[in-house]
Amino acid sequence: MSGKYEIVIGLEIHAELKTERKMFCGCLNNPDEKEPNKNVCPVCLAYPGTLPAANKKAVEEIIKIGIALKGEILPTAIFSRKNYFYPDLPKGYQITSQPNPFVLGGFIEIGDRKIEIDHIHLEEDTGTLAHRKDYSLVDFNRAGVPLMELVTKPCIESGFEARKFCEELQLILQYLEVSEANMEKGEMRCEVNISIREEGEKKFGTKVEIKNLNSFRAVEKSVEYEIERQKKVLEEGKRVIQETRGWDENKGETFSQREKEEAHDYRYFPEPDLPVFLTGDFELGRIKLGLPELPAGKRERLRREYNLIEEQTEILVNDKKLANFFEAAASELQVENTSVGYKTLYNYLVSDLIGLMNTKGVSFSELKITPENFVDLVSMIESGKIGSRVAKNVLLRMFETGADPKVVIVEEGLEQVSDEGRLRDVVLRVTGGNPNVVEDYKVGKEAGLKFLIGQAMKETRGKGNPEVLKKMFEKEIKKS
Ligand code: ADP
Ligand code: MG
Ligand code: ZN
Repeated sequence: MSGKYEIVIGLEIHAELKTERKMFCGCLNNPDEKEPNKNVCPVCLAYPGTLPAANKKAVEEIIKIGIALKGEILPTAIFSRKNYFYPDLPKGYQITSQPNPFVLGGFIEIGDRKIEIDHIHLEEDTGTLAHRKDYSLVDFNRAGVPLMELVTKPCIESGFEARKFCEELQLILQYLEVSEANMEKGEMRCEVNISIREEGEKKFGTKVEIKNLNSFRAVEKSVEYEIERQKKVLEEGKRVIQETRGWDENKGETFSQREKEEAHDYRYFPEPDLPVFLTGDFELGRIKLGLPELPAGKRERLRREYNLIEEQTEILVNDKKLANFFEAAASELQVENTSVGYKTLYNYLVSDLIGLMNTKGVSFSELKITPENFVDLVSMIESGKIGSRVAKNVLLRMFETGADPKVVIVEEGLEQVSDEGRLRDVVLRVTGGNPNVVEDYKVGKEAGLKFLIGQAMKETRGKGNPEVLKKMFEKEIKKS
């Protein structure tokens, strides 16, 4: 054995679409519903004699996803029945637009690599099972929720790349507002297919599928583990067997679950109760025009327009609401014509405001501070009108009441005092009250000066201009 291997990975990713209603009935699609079996009806419970009717919105959304990912929207899509038995599947089959999907091809770029998509189809979700000690409970609230499945070509080369693909897809789905795609909540589920082959070998190796990965980290780690495991199997002169494996988060290991079923076991056949979909009926041009700016485009534009570094654009792109706030504030900078730069604005936003929002558990939709007022605050800090200590308090007031910082400063008399005449008394008092510190400073202890400034800041309730105070103390001590 040469020991040099090529890694081959393909992903199958499911995401729940956040349509108002389910895929084939009028039940609410509410992933937050706590009461079991509330959003159910004879259709999604598979009572005999009921008929499905496809949710047009879900079909539009799958087309929208396909266009956004630059896939080909096939002229016809056909729903089929995928037959298998499991207690969370009341019909005994799942309705799916496999093997005649809505979208063929497409890609997502990860750095300078283009990860190709095989196809995207639309199907219905299953119910959920809760396992108790010696019985299981079934909840059909999720049964029949529209589900997108995206299958990539076997062209991913590492755990890191698999993770990046999942992260970027999640972001795109969020930008398109078709799914929250939260992995921890099961709104996005990722299955990883992985095989290895000796370098130069033409044929793919036997693949293993890893299921039940509920975080991006698990995607990356499970792939890394599986690569090593398969290498070891081959090095020992054995063969990798085709199987489905699970991921044990605690042990950081994959484990065998079952040997793989073949596609023919599902006995796919066209769903006789639904029409063939002619995608031309869906105004593809209008859907395309309605697409929002996508993460890749936003990355590029933010870098260009605001001259931010990659790390900064990435933080903005990963949070659309943060990016919107930043851009609204940035346009205020132009209106107000201040000397504050984009980077300064970015820093105040990401460290101070976001820090405060995180500690208080407030999201952008609940935030009372407007971009205009935030820019005013930053300009006042930068121009030295208020000091950093006062700024913190003003920010807090704005945060609580949505107040205009100019008003807060006037109302509370918080404007920074730089006028020596108004600071003289304080300086004399502090110097006179701390003779030892003054002596220390005279013999070279620099910290003494800081202490005196600190005392004066305290006396002025943070309003004294520290630069001016420093000069005044230096002068005063020289004299004495
Ligand atoms: P199956 O019929 O077993 O589900 P598919 O051909 O539909 O297999 O592929 C499922 C996923 O597995 C796709 O993402 C595909 O890219 C990937 N895949 C296929 N063959 C391999 C392989 N030999 N190694 C790794 N991934 C593979
Ligand atoms: Mg499969
Ligand atoms: Zn229903």
